[in-house]
Amino acid sequence: MSELPSFELRPGVAFPDWAAVTSPTAADALVAILSAIDPAKNWSGYDDEEDRVRQAVIEGLAELDGAPDAEWIAALTGLDEGRVAALLDRLAARDLVVRDGGSNAILGAYPLTTRSTEHRVGFGGKVTHAMCAIDALGTGAMFDADVVIESRCRACGGPIRIATKDRGIALDSVEPGSTVVWSGNQYEGACAATSLCTVIAFFCSEAHLEDWWRTNRSGSEGYRLTPDEAMQVGRALFEPVLTRAGCAVGRLA
Ligand SMILES: [Zn+2]
Repeated sequence: MSELPSFELRPGVAFPDWAAVTSPTAADALVAILSAIDPAKNWSGYDDEEDRVRQAVIEGLAELDGAPDAEWIAALTGLDEGRVAALLDRLAARDLVVRDGGSNAILGAYPLTTRSTEHRVGFGGKVTHAMCAIDALGTGAMFDADVVIESRCRACGGPIRIATKDRGIALDSVEPGSTVVWSGNQYEGACAATSLCTVIAFFCSEAHLEDWWRTNRSGSEGYRLTPDEAMQVGRALFEPVLTRAGCAVGRLA
């Protein structure tokens, strides 16, 4: 396992959490995502202040009705607003925070977004949106809380509902039971939200994934994952995000 790519997110916390990945196919899909994100290159110099601002953005996206602004983040982190603005610039350059190209307003921070994607994630009485299917499946583990995901088959639009158990780290129910996830390989414009995330989706059946792939993505590479495999990838990517030295600091837990 020593060959697997890993990045020290903060002292004592590695990204991704390979311990969450037991399926070889999930491991292959995660390696493909990591090669797109390329943390060794794109996160070089990532520091504690950036980390605190990134965590605050994610917590704000979960807590507020919209995205947090620099003033809200400054109040939560204890950093001054000018410093927060500079750190948001750095996080946006690393594609850890997604902003509007014109107004610079925060639109999201993986796994959450203010955009009305097809992936609704409910927990703690709130509903938010995830960037993609794998992000949705990692949200519960990140917050150390159970979630209910309501999404749609990318091919037919049919409803898909997934509930987690064990504080977000296992599947409780998947409806329909034939649901699969496609994790496609596509990363453009240094923004996963508008490239990679658009090809990581739920399908109500393998047949609908195949129909969609033949029509829209024929020839493109990717991985067909069971919901459990996709959750392994989501946990590996997002469990470390709010963790400090082995304990989650998410205020929503
Ligand atoms: Zn379908």
